[in-house]
Amino acid sequence: MHGNVIAQVSTPPGKGGVAVIRMSGEGSLDIAKKVFLPFSQKEIDSYPPRTQIYGYILYNEEKVDDGMLTLFPAPHSYTGEETVEISCHGGVLITRTVLEALFTAGARSAEAGEFTRRAFINGKLSLSEAEAIGTLLEAKSHEQIRLSASPARARLTEVTNSIKNELIGLMSSIYARIDYPDEDLGEFTDDEAVEKLLSVREALTRLIDTYRTGHAINEGISATVCGKPNVGKSTLYNLLVGEDAAIVTDVAGTTRDVLERTVALGRVTLKLTDTAGVHSGEGIDKVEQIGIGRSRDKIRSSELILAVFDLSREMDEYDLELINEIREADGYKVCVLNKLDLVEKKDPPFDIARLPKDVFGDVITISADKDDQGSLKVLIDLVNRLFTDEKITCGQDAILSSARQHAAVLRARDFINTAIDAYRIGLPSDAASSDIEMAIGAICELDGRAVSESVVNDIFSKFCVGK
Ligand code: GDP
Repeated sequence: MHGNVIAQVSTPPGKGGVAVIRMSGEGSLDIAKKVFLPFSQKEIDSYPPRTQIYGYILYNEEKVDDGMLTLFPAPHSYTGEETVEISCHGGVLITRTVLEALFTAGARSAEAGEFTRRAFINGKLSLSEAEAIGTLLEAKSHEQIRLSASPARARLTEVTNSIKNELIGLMSSIYARIDYPDEDLGEFTDDEAVEKLLSVREALTRLIDTYRTGHAINEGISATVCGKPNVGKSTLYNLLVGEDAAIVTDVAGTTRDVLERTVALGRVTLKLTDTAGVHSGEGIDKVEQIGIGRSRDKIRSSELILAVFDLSREMDEYDLELINEIREADGYKVCVLNKLDLVEKKDPPFDIARLPKDVFGDVITISADKDDQGSLKVLIDLVNRLFTDEKITCGQDAILSSARQHAAVLRARDFINTAIDAYRIGLPSDAASSDIEMAIGAICELDGRAVSESVVNDIFSKFCVGK
């Protein structure tokens, strides 16, 4: 029994042309020898590493399939451990049979994310890289793929390592001075130390500033479409989603509950909600009332509020009610004046001048059901301008893309600020050294080297079995 060898199907569940079963841990080769017989009759480990070998797959010595085997000797594998991959025919039963053959020969089933967790433990991946692989598996847009692909991951690791090395250099110089005050060890003067800290702070600030873009691409912006009945909320929602996801009718009050979808608009991932109209008009039933309550909660928690108004009708008390409703919400508020196609541009029935000046960050005019007028482009340009920095390029720049990373870098900068203050008010350099050490700790957290068990578990629990 090789208690440490884990195995799982790495390809998605269901029937496919080929399925890949992955096994990792010391002893994988021994198990592979029990279940795989190369046609050549040669030993598996007589082949050069990472060569595909063709042969029979055996279950209790019965030939159940033929397939390919690849041996990745440690440490040159995804997990850093001895790893074997077997490709068999992708039928549901045959795949399960091959997996069972591995279990019978001594492997145990891998838990969700266990392969990647082992890669992390063996130093093959930093925590940020593991997170990025999680994102890659879940990616819903090309920009998300670019953000989590290996060049982008490598760039972030490179930048954080260089910051960390600067600080470690500074720390060791301070310690040298404390431990050997009489020696000239080429350490920094206090002024030079402050200089270095200022440049580290600048690098951290540059990194922190990327989170706005990283957040919009990776985590997504929560957005709500709201407005009184019949202004075109569902039509706008469908325009953004790109299909008839919400029911559009000309009977007021049809969207009774909250619909949610994730859409890619340019580089921005929008977590979009189409709400029931927020209104207190007469004749609304209980179900609609509940929908309105949920809409209110959504409006309050959204980062972007698209408040829709109908240009072809006069502004009324329900429009004003909506404006009051969103006034106190924290999200960025955009006034979307819809049905442009129905009105004289210069003199629409809706009195734009009556819109309060202190509520909306932007005002746009569109025709939600006439995409040929470029309405979608207006919206795409708007959200990209609002939530991303066009100077930041995925793959070229180091980008923070999760709240966890962002919090760690903010913490590091706070410690650096305290260290700078300590120098400036003339405290001895060992006062700054403890802050610098904490800053290094916060940066290491980004890699996961000092990260608590619970954070690690949280990240790996998002992986599927077999990854
Ligand atoms: P909601 O109640 O706010 O969700 O409104 P809907 O999206 O159901 O739209 C109400 C009616 O307005 C439907 O008949 C839509 O086809 C129509 N409508 C929506 N947007 C436009 C537009 O830009 N121009 C025109 N002419 N009609 C629109």
